[in-house]
Amino acid sequence: MTKENSFLYYDGARRSATSHRYFDNINPATGKVLHSVRSASDADVENAVESARSGFEIWSAMAPTERGRILRKAADILRSRNEEIARIEVEDTGKPLTEAISVDVLSGADALEYYGGIAASLHGEHYDLGNSFAYTKREPLGICAGIGAWNYPVQIACWKSAPALACGNSMIFKPAELTPRSAVLLAEVFTEAGLPNGVFNVVQGEAEVGQMLTRHPKISKISLTGEVGTGKKVMADAAKTLKHVTLELGGKSPLIIFEDADLDEAVNGAMIANFYTQGEICSNGTRVFVHESLKAAFLEKLIAKTQNLKIGDPMEMDTQVGALISEQHLEKVLDYIEQGKKEAKLIVGGERCNNIEACQEGYFVTPTIFEADQDSARIVSEEIFGPVMTVLSFSEENEVVRRANDTIYGLAAGVFTRDLVRAHRVVGQLEAGMCWVNNYNITPVEIPFGPYKQSGIGKENGLATLNAYSQLKTVYVELGKIDSPY
Ligand code: NAD
Repeated sequence: MTKENSFLYYDGARRSATSHRYFDNINPATGKVLHSVRSASDADVENAVESARSGFEIWSAMAPTERGRILRKAADILRSRNEEIARIEVEDTGKPLTEAISVDVLSGADALEYYGGIAASLHGEHYDLGNSFAYTKREPLGICAGIGAWNYPVQIACWKSAPALACGNSMIFKPAELTPRSAVLLAEVFTEAGLPNGVFNVVQGEAEVGQMLTRHPKISKISLTGEVGTGKKVMADAAKTLKHVTLELGGKSPLIIFEDADLDEAVNGAMIANFYTQGEICSNGTRVFVHESLKAAFLEKLIAKTQNLKIGDPMEMDTQVGALISEQHLEKVLDYIEQGKKEAKLIVGGERCNNIEACQEGYFVTPTIFEADQDSARIVSEEIFGPVMTVLSFSEENEVVRRANDTIYGLAAGVFTRDLVRAHRVVGQLEAGMCWVNNYNITPVEIPFGPYKQSGIGKENGLATLNAYSQLKTVYVELGKIDSPY
């Protein structure tokens, strides 16, 4: 364990924090403390804000083509460091290396490349008004703050910084305290790519450091990825200075499998929707509604495939299920499983797994499936954020749509059917911001991803996000004489 303190980044370099508060950066696969990380103090946050202010002056005045070139160069550097950064993500998150190496860093690089490519295409409109005209232009907001969750640390940092920077903003990013390291590496990548000092900054700490950002009068926008409860607090704090907010929050998404679905595809879809990243994915389809005529066959295949999943040391390339993020989260997931045993039928898994060589102290839980018949059961209605799937049955389309929508959340939903007319009819009625037909959890950077209902506000990715990181200025130009009433 090191007492490394240079985990902040501003004015183009790593910096040491100066508060007297520390938090542990723990490897969830072993339970070992990797670093004791020092939190940012008020003064450190002020330094980061000042850095971001001076970075903004340079960056916002730069030609968008040049901004795009730097972002695309950062994408290339990030890709070239894929394995190194993926390994750090695995140490911090406990997720399997096979996932981190194929998704986490590369999907972050995709965002830098995509927004780098369109930075120069931001434009306004011209309005011909006869003897006058008007035009609009998209301008940056100023200093934006990104606050991340721990499940996809470097991807989240890229998904927030890429559109923010493409629009000419600067950013201060606070990673989740459980996964502090990859955001600093991203900052180094940006600097190497030629990003002016101060355009991308990193501060570290828990909720109180997040609050320093959400309450700071010089910060114009907050983009949070986190829990619904955190989203409400962040929005309330941001309201005091009327900041723009993007909130990407939790979910308990429905996955509907109709009687005509391809059975193997539906089983694979349900597994991807529940067990990837040990179930720690916000959009997971954890309420799996299967048509009653298909349920027995579906469960038979699902159980067999789930029991075959390889749970193990996340650094081994054949591991498919890694460790949960923390001991506290492990306890929460195990509590839900105990609760589930009272409310539903446990059919697979449901145990802590501590017989993995070199990882006996790790926070592993076997992939778990419950067969449930009560939509109101806690394991069916509350976000668990672990490898816990609930399978429910239904008989009618109208019934399943009503039950799928009967939740405060609205992040995502999935439908498996061979009947495309029905697929579109059903997704048209689902109260979810992201719907997949015959697949699940596919999030290429080109398509907007984001919530309905209490799963949050706004979008990430796609062209839609550019509007969330810029403001529209309208300019009226008189060509004739003022038609004065005076
Ligand atoms: P969390 O809400 O506990 O923390 C998220 C971040 O907010 C952390 O950086 C934390 O330090 C910070 N924070 C906490 N309280 C704060 C406050 N009062 N003011 C400012 N900042 C504060 O969430 P988590 O446990 O890190 O992540 C898991 C949650 O994130 C799940 O609910 C999951 O569904 C959600 N999530 C959503 C998406 C999405 O795109 N919608 C993606 C990933 C995760």
